[in-house]
Amino acid sequence: MPTILLVLAAFAAFIPVLAVDGMLDTYVRARETSALQTRVDAITQDSQAAVHDAIQSLRRILAASPSLCTPTFFANVNAELIGNLYLKQVMVENRDGVQYCAAYDTTVEYRVLSESLNIPGHTEMLSVVQIADFPRPLLKVTQSFGEQRMVSALVVAAPILSLESGTLFDGLNYLQLSLTSGTPILSRGDAGVEGADGRQDYLLARSFAGEIPIKAEAAASFESLRPGYAQLDLAFTIVACLVGVMILVMALHFVRRSSLPSFDLERAILAGEMKPYYQPVINLRTGRLVGCEVLIRWVKRNGEVVPPGAFIDYAEMSGLAIPMTLSLMEQVRVDLEDLCRDVKDFKVSINLFEGHFRDGSIVEDIHSIFEGSGIEYRQLVFEITERRPLDDRVAANRIISSMHKLGVRIAMDDAGTGHSNLAYLQTLGIDIIKIDKIFVDMIKDASTPVPVIDGLISMARDMDIEIIAEGVETQDQALYLRAKDVSLAQGYLFAPPMKLSAFRTLADALRPEEKLSNLGADIAA
Ligand code: C2E
Ligand code: CA
Ligand code: CA
Repeated sequence: MPTILLVLAAFAAFIPVLAVDGMLDTYVRARETSALQTRVDAITQDSQAAVHDAIQSLRRILAASPSLCTPTFFANVNAELIGNLYLKQVMVENRDGVQYCAAYDTTVEYRVLSESLNIPGHTEMLSVVQIADFPRPLLKVTQSFGEQRMVSALVVAAPILSLESGTLFDGLNYLQLSLTSGTPILSRGDAGVEGADGRQDYLLARSFAGEIPIKAEAAASFESLRPGYAQLDLAFTIVACLVGVMILVMALHFVRRSSLPSFDLERAILAGEMKPYYQPVINLRTGRLVGCEVLIRWVKRNGEVVPPGAFIDYAEMSGLAIPMTLSLMEQVRVDLEDLCRDVKDFKVSINLFEGHFRDGSIVEDIHSIFEGSGIEYRQLVFEITERRPLDDRVAANRIISSMHKLGVRIAMDDAGTGHSNLAYLQTLGIDIIKIDKIFVDMIKDASTPVPVIDGLISMARDMDIEIIAEGVETQDQALYLRAKDVSLAQGYLFAPPMKLSAFRTLADALRPEEKLSNLGADIAA
């Protein structure tokens, strides 16, 4: 399983590196296509403005001239020619193309390059012509005057192209301005690219001038644009490599953490290798055995006993904590039923995981295992550790109150080491706190005050919460605690967690109840 994970992780680590190219291609396409669109839009906008200006010039000339080809008419034409830089000529013809007059006192020689198109919403017509003394085709905007005569303005098709043709064409493989009917006005570049729609190797953009029948199209080769993004490519690749390395490191970390007991834990639970060990809880005043805490051990087939520190995190992470606890509770029932039946106030404390306080199944499990057994609910205590915060407090409250309804009690383990405040303990409905070993360790002798412990004790007492001291290793610690009226304690001073047979022997030796335990007798005396 770890090998498979590592192989998968190795593949996963390559994905970002492989994805960089594709992602960057997509990005370059989107960005460059949008830039291309901006350019063709600028060209059609400019053509539209030029045609509009020509229409306005024509209208002003006609409005101010009662008749054509008169000195007044020429004066008006000249004024427009001076005022409108892109207006190249104004001429008067009949419908058969016979010229009556033109500005600059000449006859205009021109070739007609297109049909005459309507300009939607206007009375003017539009066509493309080529005059002798101008290098590029011009747009001819024509308005009729009376029945017979036509007045035309010749205007530069897209002034922006003659002004900045250099920069506008930069990086383009193809650029064409044409009538919407298809007749080209201007084209540059590789005509083979025309209509390259759907081709992956070219980026294309097309724009229609809204009001006049003119469109612009441009194409740029993707291959020629992509190198411009080499630096970004490098940056992306570096980031992708880092992400890949992170994936690998995390996978290795995960495998190392979990590889110790991981692959075997599930089997071990099924094989019954997870065993409850029992640590006595002693009454400091009477020296009597009053209960025990169940602490899990993995007893391997070769006899090796693995402490919970090596597998408890993995059990929690993998979801095995739930079946593990279930198996433990079943064994506890079998192991301690007789003892609990005989000694009615014997208490058994079982550790739970944070996960137990997320879904309510623990309540059903407790019920199905202990209902009708020799262990009564009031003899059971369930411990929650304060080291890990309960994520879902609402769920935790609900589950704890269901447990209370059964009649079991709840202990806050490792009290003082975690994140809870006093009010929180009370809202959770904690019945017992277990003062952590790190605080008990602060007691150096029986008479020097330890304010932290004193504080915890008086807080618990104020809230009517029972106290058990953990990790009691010295006589002084036991005496100090007893002097503070803490009556329950567990620790190596009395006994370590023991396997069932040893614990039974100890418990038997301590019965009948009245008999003082040898363990506690010294301090009880
Ligand atoms: P814990 O619940 O705080 O258990 C007390 C730990 O302190 C136990 O370690 C116990 O062997 C040890 N201990 C008891 N008296 C002394 C002492 O005087 N001195 C010293 N130095 N240590 C003492 P253990 O059994 O290794 O368990 C470690 C932790 O693993 C437990 O801490 C508990 O959080 C967890 N754990 C153990 N069994 C279970 C279980 O069945 N379910 C759950 N959810 N957690 C468990
Ligand atoms: Ca505990
Ligand atoms: Ca503890």
